[in-house]
Amino acid sequence: KSDEAYHPVVFSAGDEREEERLWGMGLQSKIDQALENGDIYTVYQPQISLADGSLSGVEVLVRWHDAERGNITPSFFIEQCEKTGRMLSLTDTVLRRALDELSQVWASAEPFSISINVSATVLDDMRLVDVVERALMQSTIDPRYMVLEITETSRIGDMDMARAIFARFKGMGIKMSIDDFGMGCANFEVLDNLPFDEIKIDRTFVAKMNHSPLCRGIVAGVIQLGAETRARVVAEGAEDAAAIANLRRMQCPIVQGFGIAKPLSTADLIQFAKRIPFRQERSKAGQTW
Ligand code: C2E
Ligand code: MG
Ligand code: MG
Ligand code: MG
Repeated sequence: KSDEAYHPVVFSAGDEREEERLWGMGLQSKIDQALENGDIYTVYQPQISLADGSLSGVEVLVRWHDAERGNITPSFFIEQCEKTGRMLSLTDTVLRRALDELSQVWASAEPFSISINVSATVLDDMRLVDVVERALMQSTIDPRYMVLEITETSRIGDMDMARAIFARFKGMGIKMSIDDFGMGCANFEVLDNLPFDEIKIDRTFVAKMNHSPLCRGIVAGVIQLGAETRARVVAEGAEDAAAIANLRRMQCPIVQGFGIAKPLSTADLIQFAKRIPFRQERSKAGQTW
């Protein structure tokens, strides 16, 4: 199940006919089935510390391979899970599977952080805390290496509840990350309202950095922001050597992208972790936790 061969079926969000047809085919129960039988699975994209080239962490990305339809694009079924109240269940499945598989990798490598994507739409549900707590209790992973990436923060409905949930996670030693930073206008306000430990620079800025002084300025600004607030900064979507070299020059602490590696299976991640040099000290150069 290599991501190289992953060519997802894309359903356009606005295509209601197509959606209706899928609902007719029992999409709801298909999702439940896939959650159950392993058709929904996880891959892992490495995050590299630019100071020493070591494996800083991995981001867990969900995949769905359907026997009839082939690979189904994450954004499509994530939206379906949100619409049908299956988001917590998806998060639970992803988390358990990832912690289970990654504990094998952890056993044979220096400790690295594990980032799970969490939809902002479940930040109003305290059961999220139970889901994460239970999954961690049943695994050997140290909670201090667990990172929760909050995607689409503009969709946080209940800020007080989100704050309470953040406090619970922080009490467990879990790190909170703001994903796709810079996209959507509520991001700076959210950053001021919730205690994030990590900022992920959206890949659209990283991709345009070479040609656009504005995008380069935004990337540099976020790196600076991270240094001043002691938040860990990760640049996502570093697609090639030039982007990685630029980010190193800008003293970006951590990069992730196709230029480092595509999302990997567990077996491929183990091989990847063996190839790269490990850091001497975890707390060095720009990485604040
Ligand atoms: P994201 O969290 O921003 O994840 C990064 C996305 O960028 C991934 O797409 C990854 O494959 C892609 N990517 C990484 N490096 C590069 C690069 O160098 N170039 C390009 N062009 N793309 C790159 P993916 O796996 O399709 O995921 C899309 C989005 O779906 C994610 O964006 C995240 O918001 C959401 N998602 C994925 N897995 C989960 C999950 O388990 N739960 C939730 N709630 N959302 C998830
Ligand atoms: Mg993410
Ligand atoms: Mg992202
Ligand atoms: Mg993104």
